[in-house]
Amino acid sequence: MNPFAYTKPTDTRAALATGARGGRYIAGGTTLVDLMRETVERPGTLVDISGLPLQEIRATGDGLRIGALARMADVAAHARVRSAYPVISQALELSASAQLRNMATIGGNLLQRTRCTYFRDVTAPCNKRQRGSGCAALEGYNRSHAIFGTSQACVATHPSDLAVALAALDATVHLLSGDGERSLPLTEFLLRPGDTPDREHDLRPGELITAVEIPPHPQPVRSGYLKVRDRQSYEFALTSAAVVLNISGGVIRDARVAAGGVGTVPWRLTAVERRPSLGAAVGAGRRGRRGRRPPATPQRLQGGTAQTHRRTSTAHGGRHAMTQQARPAAGTPLSRVDGRLKVTGQAAYAAEHDAHGAVRGVVHGVIVTSTVGKGRITGIDTRDAAAQRGVLKVITHQNAPKLPYRSFRGVPDPARGSACASSRTTGSASSASRSRSWWPRPWRSPSTRRAW
Ligand code: SF4
Repeated sequence: MNPFAYTKPTDTRAALATGARGGRYIAGGTTLVDLMRETVERPGTLVDISGLPLQEIRATGDGLRIGALARMADVAAHARVRSAYPVISQALELSASAQLRNMATIGGNLLQRTRCTYFRDVTAPCNKRQRGSGCAALEGYNRSHAIFGTSQACVATHPSDLAVALAALDATVHLLSGDGERSLPLTEFLLRPGDTPDREHDLRPGELITAVEIPPHPQPVRSGYLKVRDRQSYEFALTSAAVVLNISGGVIRDARVAAGGVGTVPWRLTAVERRPSLGAAVGAGRRGRRGRRPPATPQRLQGGTAQTHRRTSTAHGGRHAMTQQARPAAGTPLSRVDGRLKVTGQAAYAAEHDAHGAVRGVVHGVIVTSTVGKGRITGIDTRDAAAQRGVLKVITHQNAPKLPYRSFRGVPDPARGSACASSRTTGSASSASRSRSWWPRPWRSPSTRRAW
């Protein structure tokens, strides 16, 4: 982590003044601190805004205003949110972990950065991290990348579940800077990558998110959030859907549908929303209430090829991307449901999908952290770990080789635990020994890979 200055202003005006001078806002810190540790982000000054009065959640007639500093857990549990907008509570509760939801704020959730592995690997080319450096995901491991809203510069998905729910609810983002207030629809606030994937939001220098507002919806409104992921906790979406319906007299009068995990921004499925069959009776199964089939649907959701393959080069372009002919996907189509394989040590990992086949005999490493939440570690007993089948070496602060920083980015923090490396095996030892630090890097020579 690089040195930085830290300040915690007690009023919004002082925070904005520091932000205007280049300070970086931080509240829960659940994304930014990680990125600073990885040296992906290197802010010179952190402006801690967690003390500002922006936590309020309140009804605005039939709408709702959520302060940018309201915690995810508090919003998910709020009585008004649960009763009127369950899609928000569900999206939040399917996000991250309970500990993270206790810390993370609504504003920070919207500003969280992509989970693209290469973005977080400072040795990889990444246009989002450094404009013009290239995109390692195009030829690398792109199973979880976007199929909608992509560009040749970036195919990373937007990671927020909440943003998908808010997109379906037509939410507005309220912003404040020294120049005054302004508001933007969420779907305009979040930017598609285009040629500038490093610019993810329509935020001006020093501007602060103050609140998110959900407008009144035709009543009664019913909503829900469905998320598909590799495992049932603490995982990002392979795909998700937020659906907001106005149903009266047993008929769907209005529908708003947004998809997550598949677009560079939360993706409104406007063709689905326009389906004439929306007027069909609810609860009558495939046939209408009077035994007739719902009207034929002229708008067919296109892009089937794109949905078969996880990522395509489909040009960015909003709704148009839905109707464009999908181009052939890059890479190899992969099963998107390999959670079982992961936990049984049988899953193929990124390096093994190397498009050039340059990697042989992959060794996996994993950071092993202490299970002691608080205390002082006086010693590390590595004997059991070393005795596991397939484990090649257990590395601690006592025997870690002195390597150049970029050769091995998984050197453990001696205060927290150790790292071990193993050959590819089956069983618990191998599942514990796989590392997110090892991803295909086709721009590196195999000899470099073996150097560590
Ligand atoms: Fe970077 Fe985007 Fe390419 Fe990922 S997909 S490597 S974030 S440019």
